[in-house]
Amino acid sequence: MKCQECGQPAIIHVTEARKMAAVSERHLCEAHARQYLQDHPAGAEPVAATAAAQASSGQGAEVRMDLIRLVISEVHDQQLMILGEVSGRRCLSVVIGIFKATSLDRRLKQLPSPRPLTHDAWADTIGTLGGRVQDVLIHDLREHTYYVWVRIRQGEHVVAVDVRPSDALVLAVLLQVPVLIAGWLLEEVSGPAQ
Ligand SMILES: [Zn+2]
Repeated sequence: MKCQECGQPAIIHVTEARKMAAVSERHLCEAHARQYLQDHPAGAEPVAATAAAQASSGQGAEVRMDLIRLVISEVHDQQLMILGEVSGRRCLSVVIGIFKATSLDRRLKQLPSPRPLTHDAWADTIGTLGGRVQDVLIHDLREHTYYVWVRIRQGEHVVAVDVRPSDALVLAVLLQVPVLIAGWLLEEVSGPAQ
């Protein structure tokens, strides 16, 4: 694949997303990727604030987030997933592995797979056992690692399952459920747009 700007090999792939679906993709060389990311900082435009999002972020101290960008590099081990505040401009980036990043990218682009993948099987298992994924909550950060719960409602009970951020996001995109972060944590980690 060639860089859309100069024809050199494209080694960085940027997927822009809104509401859990890809809205555009860029395939760029390293120099043009740097330029693009500099010219289009994540969080420059607020994600459309909706009544539902406002209501959700107003509940307690949890803030609703949307997956707004995925940066996949063929030359680095670590990929970037960027989450933006639904009713504001705060962002945070989470480093994920290439396998999960690719899986997430396929989900965002709704690329079909012939047989159920791990996350499909996981979602089906929860449903088959009478559960419903309510939301995903990023609730802590320890030693540069985000801690995330997938909250599953089963009858009158809600159980929280500890999962990696990348797995939680794949599940959230797959099932189209809200992604939330503890308000204090967003306050602590949201930096300038990147
Ligand atoms: Zn280029």
